[in-house]
Amino acid sequence: MVLSLDAIDNFSTLVNEHQVFVLTCHTNADGDALGSTLALRKALVNMGKKATVVTPDLPPTYFSWMPGFKTIRTYEKETELCNSIVDEAEVIVVLDYSDIRRVKTLGDKLASVTGKKSIMIDHHLDPIFKADVSFSFPEACATCDLLFTILRKSSLAPFVDVDVATCIYTGILTDTGGLSYNSSDPEIYLTVAELLRMGIDKPTIHDNVFNNKTVRRLKLLGYTLNRKLHRIEKYPLSIMTLDAKELEQYGYHTGDTEGFVNYPLQVKDIIATAFIMERPDGVKISLRSKGNFPVNEFAARYYSGGGHLNAAGGNFSGTFEEAVNTYNDNIVEFYAKWLKQQSK
Ligand code: 5GP
Ligand code: MN
Repeated sequence: MVLSLDAIDNFSTLVNEHQVFVLTCHTNADGDALGSTLALRKALVNMGKKATVVTPDLPPTYFSWMPGFKTIRTYEKETELCNSIVDEAEVIVVLDYSDIRRVKTLGDKLASVTGKKSIMIDHHLDPIFKADVSFSFPEACATCDLLFTILRKSSLAPFVDVDVATCIYTGILTDTGGLSYNSSDPEIYLTVAELLRMGIDKPTIHDNVFNNKTVRRLKLLGYTLNRKLHRIEKYPLSIMTLDAKELEQYGYHTGDTEGFVNYPLQVKDIIATAFIMERPDGVKISLRSKGNFPVNEFAARYYSGGGHLNAAGGNFSGTFEEAVNTYNDNIVEFYAKWLKQQSK
């Protein structure tokens, strides 16, 4: 990751010359979204700035151990308060996303305010948000990895403490499945070495990130794998689904199904899999793949979504049943085209 010195200088100047910051991330915040916003918050606060994290919807409580989690304000739940935080801010920071249409009503608010400076730090493809200072690095394994590189080179460097490092490590871990995928760049391990030198408690972070499930969640996983995983006959493809009734039966809480989508890839010859879930705000599709099967292109083409080569998602505008019934045809069609291209 080679960052332009000009961009780092502009970042430092923006930070030095302003006092009040609002830090935002995408809906269904994951470890990288929370890690990057909370890390930057702590560094700014250490420097004497006012910085508040505003998430579009409630962050999953299994991240409540993260330093600063209690300071997070949620747009959906505390709209008035969040509106005044955004109004008061001199600088809007967009972390781990680059399209404000992905942050629901918070996005409408961000689009409506004028006269503010903005910073974007992200690793998603095809950034849409236009910021005064922008770091867009799809090759970064996590926004947290990118943010750490920026922090170390900027005027915030002296304010990076072990809390910041803990948040950064969490984002790197969660976006790479515990450093298993998308993490072959040796530079990542230099970052990890640095974080360890700064005193992060690695075993505790791993424990917090991976051993945080409830019995209810394990039972829902058991049910989903046992009853709802289907291989698409004759293809290296699979699908899992959960409807609203099933979720209710297992007392679903936000984040309970996090990571479910990955399991079918443990089957030796499955190269792409989908998890379709019925949510109150619509039908959500999560996609994962192995090798060079581009689920981000599939998500963009059929589900107005996007993401990374091997991890993407989108939404379906019809009913849950329609989403499930049309999925197989869509993926088989896309797979056949992809296969043809591969043999060229
Ligand atoms: P997940 O399946 O974990 O919800 O999402 C995996 C990845 O897909 C995310 O990191 C994000 O990059 C992308 N993604 C998920 N949902 C959407 C969506 O609705 N639109 C876009 N553009 N990307 C998405
Ligand atoms: Mn990320």
